[in-house]
Amino acid sequence: MALSGVAIFKLLPKTNCKKCGHPTCLAFAMKLAQRQASLDQCPDVSEEAKKILGEASAPPIRSITFGSGDRAVKIGEETVLFRHDKKFVNPCALAVEIKDTLSETEITKKIEEVLTSEIDRVGQKLRIDAIALTNASDDKGKFESAAKLIASKAPNVPVILSTTDHGSAEAAVKPFAGKKPIIYGANPGNAEAMANIAKAEKATLGVVANGLDELSTLTEKIKSLGVEDMVIDSGAKKAKEMLENNTMIRRAAIKKNFKPFGYPVINFAQRDDSLHEALIASLGITKYASIIVVSSIEKWKNLALFTLRQNIYTDPQVPMQVEQKIYNIGEPKSESPLMITTNFSLTYFIVSGEIENSKVASRLAVMDCEGLSVLTAWAAGKFTASKIAAFIKDSGIENEVKHRELIIPGYVAILSGSIEDKLEGWKVTVGPREANGLPAFLKARVAQN
Ligand code: SF4
Repeated sequence: MALSGVAIFKLLPKTNCKKCGHPTCLAFAMKLAQRQASLDQCPDVSEEAKKILGEASAPPIRSITFGSGDRAVKIGEETVLFRHDKKFVNPCALAVEIKDTLSETEITKKIEEVLTSEIDRVGQKLRIDAIALTNASDDKGKFESAAKLIASKAPNVPVILSTTDHGSAEAAVKPFAGKKPIIYGANPGNAEAMANIAKAEKATLGVVANGLDELSTLTEKIKSLGVEDMVIDSGAKKAKEMLENNTMIRRAAIKKNFKPFGYPVINFAQRDDSLHEALIASLGITKYASIIVVSSIEKWKNLALFTLRQNIYTDPQVPMQVEQKIYNIGEPKSESPLMITTNFSLTYFIVSGEIENSKVASRLAVMDCEGLSVLTAWAAGKFTASKIAAFIKDSGIENEVKHRELIIPGYVAILSGSIEDKLEGWKVTVGPREANGLPAFLKARVAQN
């Protein structure tokens, strides 16, 4: 069980020296109990206390990194059931399955799709994170050849090697030496042999069971064999079972500190129908999967899953925001249009993206409204005529543009008159309500001039 704040306090130096950034040892102990501080912030804690507290303050779900270098993926380390309690920590990884029954050309094509899957959304790079090679052929030689091909064509992509045959696992893992692959397929029948390979190769072991009881027995057994890094699969195949089991695993790990379930969960979402597959994968993203394996890469599916994952793993208590300043889009000249919006990241990236689409070089004044969108900021009194006027005056933009015209979002057309009153010599033009109206709006202005 996790230690209480008072129990933690008893193990601290009790000097109230403040080196940890907290006014007292008790205050620090309370933060540690809430998992809002880290033990290494106290430089004077004893070795004995470190040992006891280190175990107690470790996240209830183990942190696992698979792959190496720039593309290494960190999963687990979660501490809450609901993201309004505290941010979910490490976004679930999306892996695409490659079966070893595919031809070399087909495997190469799928690898290429993984390598080119990256998109940029609201300033973050999103992509398919890993390849899950499955031993569909049941042939050790084919599995090994496919593993070698993947290791040579995509040396930096994290890999999951899926087989229940320990001989095949041992052969296929060799090309990934030092790259922390996951060997998935340890079950009650092969646990010992698979654990030995995982230990020897410093790989994470994927453990699959038939239900939760079997899973907890299995992870305890594998841990006793010396394997610390595991990802776990309850064997659930249907959506209802997946939801129930993933929830019970997370609840037991977080609320009861039940160690046999304190590992990241892997779910297999492959379905014949792509839409069905996307729905199953979405269920895994929202409810506690740390790795989701899909069968194919399709742009629409990627976009839906990436966006959902990004939303679930964004801190709901911290609005995503960009810096307040005047952004140049293209290479604006002194007569180029000047627009204004708020600093909510999504607003900024959508508006700037649409201005880019218009191919009309422009300036975009982004005003600090504490990360709120246009209408919310207006309703909250943060995007008002006086504040906009003050921002424009202070920004120094009057030295950059020849004209005195400010284009405001259509949703706050009501502000146009009062901005003109407060911003002497300026004309306010009402732009479109939605950002997707900007390309036509800007092009029409160019055509008129
Ligand atoms: Fe107490 Fe350690 Fe913090 Fe000092 S640094 S106040 S000893 S917890």
